[in-house]
Amino acid sequence: MLLSVKDVVKSFIVNGKEVKALKGVSFEADRGEILALLGPNGSGKTTLLRIISGILLPDEGEILVDGHRISKKIKKEILFIGEKVSLYPKLTVLENVEFWTSLSHKRYDAKEAADILERIDLPKEKWNMPAEVLSRGMAQKTLLATAFLVRPKIILIDDVFAGLDPRSVKSVKNILRELRDEGSLILITTHRVRDAEDIADRVIIMNSGEIAFIGTVSSAKSLIKEGYPVKLILDGPPEDMFRDLNASVKVTERGYEVRLLAESPAQISKLLEEVSSSGLRLVSMEVLEPSVEALLG
Ligand code: ADP
Ligand code: MG
Repeated sequence: MLLSVKDVVKSFIVNGKEVKALKGVSFEADRGEILALLGPNGSGKTTLLRIISGILLPDEGEILVDGHRISKKIKKEILFIGEKVSLYPKLTVLENVEFWTSLSHKRYDAKEAADILERIDLPKEKWNMPAEVLSRGMAQKTLLATAFLVRPKIILIDDVFAGLDPRSVKSVKNILRELRDEGSLILITTHRVRDAEDIADRVIIMNSGEIAFIGTVSSAKSLIKEGYPVKLILDGPPEDMFRDLNASVKVTERGYEVRLLAESPAQISKLLEEVSSSGLRLVSMEVLEPSVEALLG
């Protein structure tokens, strides 16, 4: 087994109070797999990736790579792309790729580097710019290009599709698939359920520091309903106006807060028509990013 995560517990002290970020997380994964970590904000996804990468130590439990605890040597086989992408700000894109490649056992080949930067859709005019001017998406692509040259055993990417345009999402997915097919284990986190379903072999759904679900994408489908989470605030009780939609209603300071998952934008407009013909006043409305939160909640 390439990766074993065993009973990992991690707490942080925030303002003198203990916050349990991970409450005993265990799973195994082998080479040649893409695993997507889904779950609401604060459910422990980033903490888990940081612990697997070896930059953060667990309070309890252990991480084994090929059966061994993480050492300096093993760390070299793991690439972690966090929220802040670790490039040298003053080095150019090409210099960064060369630098990171040279730290590995692979020989740097300028032609190979150019090929992969092209494939990953990093505009050529950026190649000789210092990394500090890159967006998060471009910095991530630079490190992914390096991954392609170095072939780490494990690639961890936090919020993998953040800040990428649709075309870049496509090229990043293709590179990830290729790395997987060549034998890397890839763990990603994302808020974008649809993209996770598209690319992952298995998904892990995290909730409050625990694994709520782990399994294949197809078996997760019943849990991961596609939709548009909607939050409405009305000035009076909606009675059973939203009954068919499994809406939850809560009385707040601002009014009656209704949360539901709409299937389509058309359904949202129909809802609004119903609200206006009911005589209730719409205090506010928000359509949230599709996320797993709405589905576990
Ligand atoms: P996610 O990535 O799923 O949003 P995180 O792993 O970032 O979740 O956070 C899990 C919990 O741990 C949250 O309650 C968060 O506030 C807390 N946490 C994470 N990192 C730190 C830290 N460095 N210091 C204090 N609290 C932290
Ligand atoms: Mg996070």
